[in-house]
Amino acid sequence: MTANRSREVHLAARPKGEPLPTDFALVEVEAPEPGPGEVAVRNFVMSVDPYMRGRMNDVKSYVPPFRVGAPLEGGAVGEVVSSNDASLTPGDVVLHGLGWREIAVGPAKGFRKVDTSVAAPSAYLGVLGMPGLTAYAGLFAVARMQAGETVFVSGAAGAVGSLVGQLAKLRGGTVIASAGSAAKVAWLTEELGFDRAFDYHDGPVAASLATAAPDGIDVYFDNVGGEHLEAAISSLKVHGRAVICGMISIYNSTSAAPAPRNLALVIGKRLRLEGMLVNDHADLQGEFVREVAPALADGRVKARETVVEGIENAASAFIGLLRGENTGKMIVRLG
Ligand code: NDP
Repeated sequence: MTANRSREVHLAARPKGEPLPTDFALVEVEAPEPGPGEVAVRNFVMSVDPYMRGRMNDVKSYVPPFRVGAPLEGGAVGEVVSSNDASLTPGDVVLHGLGWREIAVGPAKGFRKVDTSVAAPSAYLGVLGMPGLTAYAGLFAVARMQAGETVFVSGAAGAVGSLVGQLAKLRGGTVIASAGSAAKVAWLTEELGFDRAFDYHDGPVAASLATAAPDGIDVYFDNVGGEHLEAAISSLKVHGRAVICGMISIYNSTSAAPAPRNLALVIGKRLRLEGMLVNDHADLQGEFVREVAPALADGRVKARETVVEGIENAASAFIGLLRGENTGKMIVRLG
């Protein structure tokens, strides 16, 4: 095997419903030499993210669909091994969007140096990366959460949700959370200090939420959609706000989702349901890291990771992510 041999994960077929292992193919290639202005990077950690499920469908969205037979893409951190650009030198640790492969080659402007003295490389894929900024921007810039408010977050034991709840606590909120297992619920209340949490499998979400937040909620941070959003709309107080961040409950759906059936309440309650995209909030990156990095360093913020070993297991990591097999950020560590 030469130094340039690289394994990468291709989309073999567009998933129908829940992705299957056969929708992915591990392919060995010869990575090209970097051209003028390009760098080659050996990845050591890469991210699997729910939004990738949408890119596997052949539909127009805010990002183009993945191509069948071509490598997948996603966040990754690695070390520059050769550079034809003055901005990067071999040994630099960089964050970029060419994951799902062992060696990434591309224009240097697509690779951003990260400071590994501040946090481990994988943190830049999770708590200090895109999911972290999503939590921060959604809670503070979109929902404009204030001290004393009650925040309900779904998908609360995941990368985005676990930081949403912790940031809300740090800013003086009461946090209600839902997640998919008793172990996750225990982690949220016992280790992260959320006020109340429930397993959404234990009964109708509306009933669990009404018990957990009898006086209602001011903010709903939606990672799940469907029944969760319907329950949150019922619980939101007048002038409540819902950040529509994700709807993972319908990502594998092959038919239109039936809920929320009470969307009309948005009018009478003058609710603000606002869609968000993390890309619109790049200006907050500096203040986000200034607030969260010290909290991570002194333990006020905890970031758990579920680490899967080897690119050959990346597809099952992604399938597992959609099934809830992760707590905290799902990461694939490359050899
Ligand atoms: P997570 O780490 O939260 O992983 C996904 C989790 O979703 C799983 O662990 C699982 O946990 C939960 N889940 C899966 N299926 C269901 C279901 N049917 N009902 C309820 N929960 C389910 O992922 P991220 O933190 O990276 O992302 C969270 C959400 O935020 C996603 O919807 C994602 O698309 C969205 N997002 C949006 C961004 C934006 O810019 N708008 C940017 C980044 C993320 P459990 O065991 O609890 O079911």
